[in-house]
Amino acid sequence: MANVFQSALNALERAGEAGDINPDVLKVLSRPKRVSDFALTLKKDDGGIEVFDAYRVQYCDALGPTRDGTRFVPNLSLDEVKALGLFMTIKHAVADVPAGGGKGGIKVDPSRLSRRELERLTREYIRKLIPKGPNADVPGADIGTNLQTQSWMLDEYEKITGEHCPHAVNDKPEAVGGTVGSYEATGLGLFFVTRQAARDQAIDLTQATAVVQGFGQVGGTIAELLHELGTEIIAVSDISGGLYDESGLDIPAMRAEVENEGALLEDLNAAGAEMISNEELLELDCDVLLPSAVQNVIHEDNADDISAGLILEGANGPVTPKADQILAERGIPLVPDVVANAGGATVCHYERIQGRTDHYWDLERVQKTLKDQITEAYDATSETAEELDISLRHAAWVVALRRISKSMEMRGWV
Ligand code: NAD
Repeated sequence: MANVFQSALNALERAGEAGDINPDVLKVLSRPKRVSDFALTLKKDDGGIEVFDAYRVQYCDALGPTRDGTRFVPNLSLDEVKALGLFMTIKHAVADVPAGGGKGGIKVDPSRLSRRELERLTREYIRKLIPKGPNADVPGADIGTNLQTQSWMLDEYEKITGEHCPHAVNDKPEAVGGTVGSYEATGLGLFFVTRQAARDQAIDLTQATAVVQGFGQVGGTIAELLHELGTEIIAVSDISGGLYDESGLDIPAMRAEVENEGALLEDLNAAGAEMISNEELLELDCDVLLPSAVQNVIHEDNADDISAGLILEGANGPVTPKADQILAERGIPLVPDVVANAGGATVCHYERIQGRTDHYWDLERVQKTLKDQITEAYDATSETAEELDISLRHAAWVVALRRISKSMEMRGWV
């Protein structure tokens, strides 16, 4: 399998060519600005010691402080963190968020730790990172981190500096300076982008069918919002498999069971629905397909069998580069992850604004501002695709690279 960071650089190179981007800008973007690669020592509850690898990549700060997620997963690699740092640089830029891209994490399986061990390890991460502060680098959450870990991170940062500073850490709960509307931000952003993209493809969502892979924070939210709009959600899936009903599923009832009782889809008593595999789900005939679970699910072996009229990448990287090419050749429009799921990163920016000003917004303001900002990101992407006659994926990167180029040129970096 291609190295994940090399694949990200290949995407950068292809977009650079498509958009005729200054090669010196691409040269600067071919390496992270700063990499922290460090070890964390954890005193276990039983008195023993365990040592973990930890990373933080500040990829590029041409547009603002580096910002975003912290991943606690057992198979984390530095190359993965670098690739994610580059993707965040592009995602912030295309959404016109004044931030650079950052990513970090610990190579750990958090489910193997007690709550006290997880707290000690999270605090150790912040201490050893030697945090650079809210104007340089802001860690957020990602896989394996959550409202609790982000609260510990903020608390540790404030202990080190002796000052309250809610904007030093993102993805916090409201109790410590987070924003309302953050849980559904990515799904809601995806919903706004789906509406714009459907309009461009002359798909009437109130009469359309949709298939959603993933029934968690992103997939569950988008399925419910489309269902409310009148779209027939004919199939959804989670890690246990998919449920399919050609006359449409009762998404609110299913979601209530999954969220309130922690059920898996295979355990639901969904009348009229048939259990199918995740692979079968992706190949269903539908107007809109939203892979919103994990990466690399549409690949060169199934791209020819996809029968959707429009695809939106709710997950990060659900379509491999080879599949992307096949889908483009088959004329299936695809809205890439850096636009489709940028709602969370965008609302993180509102979280920062609120923390900096000590003035907290209501839900209506968060959602209305997100709607305007993510709709503009999609529209800029779609206009650039038309202007250069390129795919929406390349166009999204070109929109981002043009913004980054302007800043680098004015700063005299290139
Ligand atoms: P989540 O953990 O809330 O939900 C994930 C869902 O995917 C669950 O229903 C799970 O059962 C299912 N799933 C897991 N493995 C699967 C598999 N192999 N096949 C099919 N389904 C599987 O996660 P989420 O926050 O909804 O994130 C989903 C995707 O969206 C990820 O790729 C994530 O990186 C991306 N994303 C999330 C956010 C966010 O704000 N949550 C922002 C940007 C991107």
